[in-house]
Amino acid sequence: MRCEVVAVGSELLLGQINDTNSSWIGQELSAVGIDSFFQTKVGDNPDRMIEVIEQALRRSDAVITTGGLGPTQDDITRDAIAAVMGVELEFDEELAAKIEDLWGSRGREMPANNRLQARIPAGASPIPVQPGTAPGIVAVFDFEGESKVIYCVPGVPWEMREMMNGFIISDIVERSGMTAIIRSRTLRTWGTSESALAEQLAEEIERLDGAGSADGGVTLAFLASGMEGLKVRITAKGPDEDTVQQMLADQEARVRDIIGPIVFGLDDQTMESVVLDLCAEQGLTLGTAESLTGGLIAQRLTSTPGSSRAFRGGVITYATEVKTAVLGVPDGPSVSEEMVEAMALGVCERLGADVSVATTGVAGPDSWEGIPPGTVWIATCVDGEVETQLLRYKTDRVRIQNYTTITVLDALRKRLIARTA
Ligand code: ATP
Ligand code: MG
Repeated sequence: MRCEVVAVGSELLLGQINDTNSSWIGQELSAVGIDSFFQTKVGDNPDRMIEVIEQALRRSDAVITTGGLGPTQDDITRDAIAAVMGVELEFDEELAAKIEDLWGSRGREMPANNRLQARIPAGASPIPVQPGTAPGIVAVFDFEGESKVIYCVPGVPWEMREMMNGFIISDIVERSGMTAIIRSRTLRTWGTSESALAEQLAEEIERLDGAGSADGGVTLAFLASGMEGLKVRITAKGPDEDTVQQMLADQEARVRDIIGPIVFGLDDQTMESVVLDLCAEQGLTLGTAESLTGGLIAQRLTSTPGSSRAFRGGVITYATEVKTAVLGVPDGPSVSEEMVEAMALGVCERLGADVSVATTGVAGPDSWEGIPPGTVWIATCVDGEVETQLLRYKTDRVRIQNYTTITVLDALRKRLIARTA
């Protein structure tokens, strides 16, 4: 089964938005063992869209298009698909009512234009999963003498993902005639480089690749996720759910044996959710004292559902006088070990928190009082004891702030784990 992706939208060609949809779909297809040899981007132009979709149908069994399903003039994916199928668009009353209901359930009246979204090529159907107001389309039809399937999903990434996860992936897998079950599990890591990780796991990957290996149905893949660290994805393919889950568990244990300390979470877990869970499990409250990170740590903690179980609050103390006045730190250089230590202790005391994290440093681009940009002090306070660490980054402000945020939370995570070990 070959499946390819066509991303629709002139903004993609102009570089105004990155085509993250195609990358994400590529990852998901490979995880379930569907071959995907081409990805194409095309602007909102009817002739060129038809050309690209026809080309895709000639060389693949299934095509997924993203984008161009909205209600405006330049949303013409529906029209292009109808042209490729050689049919007309038909108005689907049931679908129109559903779209209207969705608007109503959000307390808003549907603009007349949105009725246009209820037009579906004759012979096609709406995708049964409809997270937003834009419906997806699925069509199975004869193209140049062969049966093909085409799926159209909206460009909005979360709507696209819900349709993929809720319908398209399993539909493609079913059509491909594969009977095996495929499941994956992602280990999230922090604190190493992609090449170092690859080196550490090289032997394990070689073992899995080895012909005739008993674990032939298991693969490992690295996914860089920007400022959020590296992911190691384990994918297992087997005859039934129990077998596959056992394969995943065994492989996870093997990987953890090798890179255990840098694994901070699984699948949807984030550094902040893991830290909050550890605090809550141990009945500890958490406070933050931020200079360099300017509230980013508190922001990430509070973006996590249920953060109030552990997070007491945070202070942003930027100017030295504010550090002194608000946290009661003694006078001294603002970017120093003594300062970050006093901040971590001070915030526990002032906010009545059991544990804390603190950051101070020079975000750049310029030096500050002779200290080079990227010089960062972090501290964690657990059970009244402070541990500090000096970090040195050579990168831009935003990255320095983000790396510092995750690194200080990771330091706290390790101490909380050690605390109960
Ligand atoms: P809508 O109903 O919102 O108009 P649509 O199906 O018409 O949905 P587009 O108008 O093409 O989709 O895109 C909507 C938004 O989704 C874009 O502004 C962009 O932010 C995002 N988007 C579109 N295509 C992609 C893509 N390939 N990768 C990542 N994001 C995308
Ligand atoms: Mg649109």
